[in-house]
Amino acid sequence: MNIILLGPPGAGKGTQARHLVETRNMVQLSTGDMLREAKDSGTEMGKMVADVMARGDLVTDEIVIGLIREKLEGDTKGGFIFDGFPRTLEQADALGKLMAEEGQTLDAVIEMRVNDEALVQRITARSTCGACGEVYNDVTKPIPADRKCTNCGAEDQFTRRADDNEESLKTRLMAYYKQTSPLIGYYYAKDMLSRVDGLGEIDAVQDEIAGVLDT
Ligand code: AMP
Repeated sequence: MNIILLGPPGAGKGTQARHLVETRNMVQLSTGDMLREAKDSGTEMGKMVADVMARGDLVTDEIVIGLIREKLEGDTKGGFIFDGFPRTLEQADALGKLMAEEGQTLDAVIEMRVNDEALVQRITARSTCGACGEVYNDVTKPIPADRKCTNCGAEDQFTRRADDNEESLKTRLMAYYKQTSPLIGYYYAKDMLSRVDGLGEIDAVQDEIAGVLDT
């Protein structure tokens, strides 16, 4: 099964994708993670996108489509989870073509709905375990006093994303509403859209997503 998790920054796409990787052997394709990796390892492309990402704007369609194209040729395992891709109508069209070329189908698009106040709270208070990706929140799930990750036990690996600040978040939200939210209508018209409440507890959201995948 190949699915898209669609939603604004902070909706919980990465958290839910990691759960699907663990429980269904799926492959998470996060263009944000791929771009951060390129930036951190200092590749030419990474240097090119660094400023755009720090501001919270979208990098070019050409770059992200190229990244996805490479991954689609790899092992499909239990299916792909597209996380943070597509983000524009051009990317959505390109994904449709790439999947057809690979003889694959897109089975579901799951919109994770949240309200904007919750997003701001989640993002500006967010930190992540660099070892396993477990997400923490200064208010609702603080980093333990012994600074060991509750999920993987790694010590002092917590990081904060450079673009998780209020200024960049405004730009990221604007990019979502202007460029990405039209995809909701696009996939609705293709009869592929399902919606889940992204504001619920993590387990409840997992159950809702499972309900979509298992019907
Ligand atoms: P994310 O980790 O999904 O929040 O993405 C972090 C940043 O990477 C975004 O704010 C964009 O600058 C860039 N990015 C990630 N995915 C895409 C995409 N599909 N299209 C354009 N830019 C992207």
